[in-house]
Amino acid sequence: MPNSQLRIVIVGHVDHGKSTLIGRLLNDTGSLPDGKVEQVQEMSRKRGMPFEWAFLLDALQAERDQGITIDTTQIHFKTKQRPYVIIDAPGHTEFLKNMVTGASQADAALLVIDAGEGALEQSRRHAFLLHLLGVRQVSVVINKMDRVEFSQARYETVAHEIKEYLSELGLFPKAVIPISARHGDNIVSRTDQAPWYLGPTVIEQLDSFRQQQVSPDQPLRFPLQDVYKPDDRRILAGRVESGRLKVGDTLRFAPSGASATVVSIEAWNNPNPVLSAQAGQSIGVTLDKRIFAERGHIAHHEDAAPTLTHRLSVRLFWLVSEPMALGKTYTLKIATAEHRVTVEQVTAVINVEDLTSTPGKAVHRNEVAEVVLRSRSPIAVDLAADLPRTGRGVLLDGNDVVGGCLVIEAEDSASANL
Ligand code: GDP
Repeated sequence: MPNSQLRIVIVGHVDHGKSTLIGRLLNDTGSLPDGKVEQVQEMSRKRGMPFEWAFLLDALQAERDQGITIDTTQIHFKTKQRPYVIIDAPGHTEFLKNMVTGASQADAALLVIDAGEGALEQSRRHAFLLHLLGVRQVSVVINKMDRVEFSQARYETVAHEIKEYLSELGLFPKAVIPISARHGDNIVSRTDQAPWYLGPTVIEQLDSFRQQQVSPDQPLRFPLQDVYKPDDRRILAGRVESGRLKVGDTLRFAPSGASATVVSIEAWNNPNPVLSAQAGQSIGVTLDKRIFAERGHIAHHEDAAPTLTHRLSVRLFWLVSEPMALGKTYTLKIATAEHRVTVEQVTAVINVEDLTSTPGKAVHRNEVAEVVLRSRSPIAVDLAADLPRTGRGVLLDGNDVVGGCLVIEAEDSASANL
């Protein structure tokens, strides 16, 4: 079976070389149409500008924009091992929003840092986002090594600093690779300019990443997207986000507490009914009795329920110019459920430079904070550290996405009421 595609995201401070690296990856893996580079080089010459790989990306983008079917934010390339898609890159206006909403669910990330400049605030903010979004497979590339004469000492300094920062976020880069994106060093082919570096090239590193694991061995979470009544049957449809379920299982639904037994499972990609389904599959189930269940409810097994809460702490990333304010009400979307929540406390505004924090009253654009949210209706959640799919949410103000968050603590309403 061919390896399926790995979804990667390339992040880092503006001008540190993300576009150049992408251009290189496409070129050096032979993923570009014939003559494309020459065409853009010729165009640059005519305009009296030095060739930049970023121009090539712009040219590809323009061609795609004229096409009808190709998704404009996705860039594809292939290695001998497998296909890749770069699902987003900073610079796209929607980048942060896509990352925060999970529209760009990446299997792995490359963090690009300029060897001369080291990690700047934006580098750290992007690293924080990777942490917030649960992207665990991260590698760092220290770019523009040609500008520092491939100095091992400079490499060590920058590598040490960023590794220290990442480790405080629980991120342990698989490799820190010295490269020159402009000259193609250590991207596909190993450079002879840094004999002191014994680690992988960028491509070797990418090929060693795994696809983000779906988790059939974790507790079952089956958030309902819809309930259909095609005939006399009633089909509860959704995507299994973690764990597995089988015909004959007794399911309980949060937050209603109703329970029923699975009579049949239909997988949309399979014409025949199936006996079981697991994380990652979109399915429909029928039950042995009619219970109250609707979009937003989460089916689980009796012995491993999500927490039902009216009060939860989240770590959040704020996207918009209007600050998040104490006492204000937003819509919290977790899995398929939506709840009205009020900001009860801004416990900490985190300084992404040094990860120190201070209490506050508001959270401003591009800031990271820990806040306490309160809801009138019970919310079924998990801690993001345990089950990210049902522990991560998006905040909306009206219809606008204003922030993304991870659940870090949830007060159990059942025990609070005892
Ligand atoms: P982005 O904003 O992160 O996408 O950065 P770009 O890829 O557009 O690069 C910014 C500038 O740095 C451009 O002028 C590139 O030519 C230059 N650059 C990128 N990589 C290298 C490199 O490895 N060495 C040198 N000397 N310049 C580079």
